[in-house]
Amino acid sequence: MSELRQDPTTYDWVIIAKERARRPHDFKRDVSERPLLPSRSDDCPFCPGNEERTPAAAAVYGDPDNWNIRVVPNKFPALTPEGDTTREEWKLFRKSRGYGKHEVVIETPVHNKCIPFMEDDHVAELLKVYRDRYHALKKDPNVKIILIFKNHGLTAGTSLEHPHTQIVASPVVPPFIRRRFEIATQHFDNTGRCLYCDILHDEHQSKDRIVKETPYFTALHPFASHYPFETWIMPKLHSSSFGNILEVEIGELAGFLKEILLKLYVSLGDPDYNFIIHTSPVDDEHKTYYLWHIQIVPKLTFAAGFELGSGININTAVPEETAAFMRGIKV
Ligand SMILES: [Zn+2]
Ligand SMILES: [Zn+2]
Repeated sequence: MSELRQDPTTYDWVIIAKERARRPHDFKRDVSERPLLPSRSDDCPFCPGNEERTPAAAAVYGDPDNWNIRVVPNKFPALTPEGDTTREEWKLFRKSRGYGKHEVVIETPVHNKCIPFMEDDHVAELLKVYRDRYHALKKDPNVKIILIFKNHGLTAGTSLEHPHTQIVASPVVPPFIRRRFEIATQHFDNTGRCLYCDILHDEHQSKDRIVKETPYFTALHPFASHYPFETWIMPKLHSSSFGNILEVEIGELAGFLKEILLKLYVSLGDPDYNFIIHTSPVDDEHKTYYLWHIQIVPKLTFAAGFELGSGININTAVPEETAAFMRGIKV
């Protein structure tokens, strides 16, 4: 029988399709489908030597002629820092200019070096760049939320192979994010505790969905995983905002993130995936009732009519099984 499970952070329901569920190893794809990439490509705007093909850098890390990481404005930005954020309304229809910022973090000069294969120090530097850009972008008082995310592979929404992350600074906090905050606030008002730290505590008690644990971080497949192999990396130190991540946490997260992504790479055959750093709105950075965390979603299934019509995802994998499977992957 299938099971309906409720996500305590959104109140969304998901169907864990136990009978239709595929075994964890059935999700692995043939790695030979992926063409081997060169370490440099003349056609790639993110490769060294092609710097003039991107807009002028917002920040360069390392020697400018031999950089480690570059941050550039997105050439095709979703939002641009022009004009203001004044809203216009006519009857029920509200709009404003597409104000905001959209940056691309070019993670490495090496065209084919994804996070799982970077040195730990380089991943730590990358995480510091995310934090730096977060603080640079939030200086704009119009910016209300900063989303750091990565699309890896065609089905995850990118055609550019060169490893990169995107950062969007938005002047509006959408209901999608506000709702999570409201649910966490309600939990805090009822119990006096942070919902996410409570979830982490309960997951540690059950242990069934834990993939890996270190002194500062836990990786798990959530109880109500919306997608097969959906993975959360949660900090054990309570903080609402990724912007407040500590040096010591960054040091540990570098190797941790690398290992989790490498486990996915090995177990699923370099899947396309999205990763998102969920963090509080800028004005709520010090609130006690939210916990920043990283969500990794391998693209293994597609939303169809039922999902679009109901908002109920059908997950064809069982989180307890996929987490156990991931624990067993040696990297
Ligand atoms: Zn490249
Ligand atoms: Zn917390």
